[in-house]
Amino acid sequence: MDYFEPKTVSEAVSLLAKYGAEAKVIAGGTDMLVDMKYKEEPGCLVNIKKIPGLGAIHENGGSLSIGALTTIRDLETSALVREKLPVLWESSHQFASLQIRNTATIGGNICRASPSGETLAPLLVLEAKGKCAFSDGEKTEPFVSFFQGPGKSVLGTKGLLTEIDVPYPAAGSRGVYLKHAVRGAMDIAMVGVAVLVTPDAAKNNVQEVRIGLGAVAPTPIRAAKAEALLRGKPLSAALIKEAAAMTAAESSPISDQRSSAENRRWIVEALTRRGLQQTWKAATGKEVA
Ligand SMILES: Cc1cc2nc3c(=O)[nH]c(=O)nc-3n(C[C@H](O)[C@H](O)[C@H](O)COP(=O)(O)OP(=O)(O)OC[C@H]3O[C@@H](n4cnc5c(N)ncnc54)[C@H](O)[C@@H]3O)c2cc1C
Repeated sequence: MDYFEPKTVSEAVSLLAKYGAEAKVIAGGTDMLVDMKYKEEPGCLVNIKKIPGLGAIHENGGSLSIGALTTIRDLETSALVREKLPVLWESSHQFASLQIRNTATIGGNICRASPSGETLAPLLVLEAKGKCAFSDGEKTEPFVSFFQGPGKSVLGTKGLLTEIDVPYPAAGSRGVYLKHAVRGAMDIAMVGVAVLVTPDAAKNNVQEVRIGLGAVAPTPIRAAKAEALLRGKPLSAALIKEAAAMTAAESSPISDQRSSAENRRWIVEALTRRGLQQTWKAATGKEVA
């Protein structure tokens, strides 16, 4: 196996272009090392940890820029992330163990493109975008169109994710990330639901709502039909019930060793209902009647 430690993004993407499907990027290695042990070793390993400047979190006008090498622990301990993007912070807080959080990067979580990746549903409801570098240029891709199937993304075999741009939600918004797993810790999500709600100025109607789902489709998804049903309406228990059922219908989970598809749909419905109730109360101070 050839092994490289490029010092710049352009050096890294040149290696990826040269080696093509033979090459694999490694960041924290929490997924890669398991793959190398139990699946197969790549012909070429490109370790990006020595590229300076990819591990910073900084404000950029109305958004937060998060370097791809930012660890999950850096997200969890960032006052900016906690204050400005609590829905993303919650996913970092519920992620694996402290040991894994210290090593795993947000870029690795995204590029793994696992439907159950913890940070993905929050990034979808925040309408975040990824900066993707290739040997022939750069492009910025919204995460809603970034994922192409389990383990597949617009990066293909030759792209490098360098930065994540997360716009701040509108003033008055509230978000929550709810994870259901069999064990309390060190378990990937059986279902993950992120909800972001913005009430109108009078705090009567739903001005904006976004629902992101993890682990219940080949990629993380937004529940677009349920969101459309809720927008512009006063939130009632009956409307929440209808929207939660619609969200479950929009999911397409599989049955596996963790859960049956039917159970996953039921959990989507329950977590969506809870997420809408919690965020509405946090945003308006009122219980849903
Ligand atoms: C014990 C254990 C518990 C875990 N628990 C959780 C959990 O609770 N929630 C969860 O979501 N995940 C969990 N994971 C999975 C893993 O920790 C995460 O997916 C992690 O964020 C991967 O980041 P990494 O930096 O370690 O990536 P790596 O293992 O280095 O890479 C992961 C993949 O992304 C690619 N890659 C990495 N960085 C880039 C980049 N910048 N550009 C292009 N491609 C890139 C690599 O080629 C590889 O395919 C767990 C893993 C273990 C071993």
